[in-house]
Amino acid sequence: MNPPPSAPSLPACHLCGGVLAPVEGAAALARVTSDCRPWPAGGALAVCRACATLQSPVDAAWRDEIAALYADYAVYAQAGGAEQRVFAPGDGAAQARSDRLVSALCAAFDLPETGRLLDFGCGNGAFLAAFGRARPGWRLTGLDQCAVHRAAILALPGVEAFLTEPPEPGAARFDLVAMIHSLEHLPDPAGALRETATLLTPGGRLFLETPDLATSPFDLVIADHVSHFTAATLTAVVRRAGLHPLAPPAGWVAKELSLVAAAGGAAGGELAPADPARESRRARALLDWLMAVLAAARGAGPGLAVFGTSISGTWLAQALADRVALFIDEDVNRIGRSHLGRPIVAPDAVPPGQRVVLPFPPAVAAGLAGRLAPRGWDLLSPPALEGSGDA
Ligand SMILES: [Zn+2]
Repeated sequence: MNPPPSAPSLPACHLCGGVLAPVEGAAALARVTSDCRPWPAGGALAVCRACATLQSPVDAAWRDEIAALYADYAVYAQAGGAEQRVFAPGDGAAQARSDRLVSALCAAFDLPETGRLLDFGCGNGAFLAAFGRARPGWRLTGLDQCAVHRAAILALPGVEAFLTEPPEPGAARFDLVAMIHSLEHLPDPAGALRETATLLTPGGRLFLETPDLATSPFDLVIADHVSHFTAATLTAVVRRAGLHPLAPPAGWVAKELSLVAAAGGAAGGELAPADPARESRRARALLDWLMAVLAAARGAGPGLAVFGTSISGTWLAQALADRVALFIDEDVNRIGRSHLGRPIVAPDAVPPGQRVVLPFPPAVAAGLAGRLAPRGWDLLSPPALEGSGDA
């Protein structure tokens, strides 16, 4: 009898049931949680030989770890609960992420003035609030397994209900279901999408927002992201659930994928399937690059400033420990607070000559370095990232 094609301890792919191939060396990678807390190394990564999705194998160890992680989950603690700002690539102009998503959604899909929205994984209600401002005639429902924001969400204009469990399949009819940074957390994304499709009215739309691994290598360090999607693998799981993307995933927010799908009828968004061998090479290249980012910053300390307090800044700072003296952030909701015991200061408070690490993908770091050059800081940009792109 031939040996099995992958390590016998690996479960099947949680997206399609295919056989997983492990990504060697993943256990050494320092990690953080998606709400920006340090988290121990020791995770596993694998690429499905069928659907090519890079993922954490969903086994008993993963379920135990994720239960511990979610037991102490807090959204946007660095900003005291205020929503993350997104910054335009050119001039750095700030806008709340949800306002950006709602305006893009309204522009792309001619949303009617009235309807019913379900926000699946609504967190602290930031998207519901932004949607209610743009479409005050809609009736809104928030769904989140964590009920800590229930009262605040029910107080938002237009919100008629808050749920901690999905409605019975087919029981409620929504014209739009939003899943914003939810799908990458779910151990059965295709099943969740199939059930969600039954909640849509005829002609209703599903709106998905996930990280884009192709432009966001730091997605790999997030311990609670069980699927790391690219445009091709996200499109594939949506189709597998019987939904039809209206167009290929867009990038309405930098480093993310924005996909709108219908429950039936319209077809579009055709993409070539992802290639498992290429995705394995991508995973290897991203892991190597992340290790190189850490090694370069380790050689540059102590007294470092880290630019940004989100995922990549948190990840770098926890791995560098006492080499980091402060964080620099342009988000007014974060300036003056502290993160990991270090102060968060405004760019104007940092003198010329300060050694500043830019923990971003090379293209993003290059744009930022150009904008920051007049400040005279000693900028440490990331090493080149090769072999990870779609080309
Ligand atoms: Zn698969």
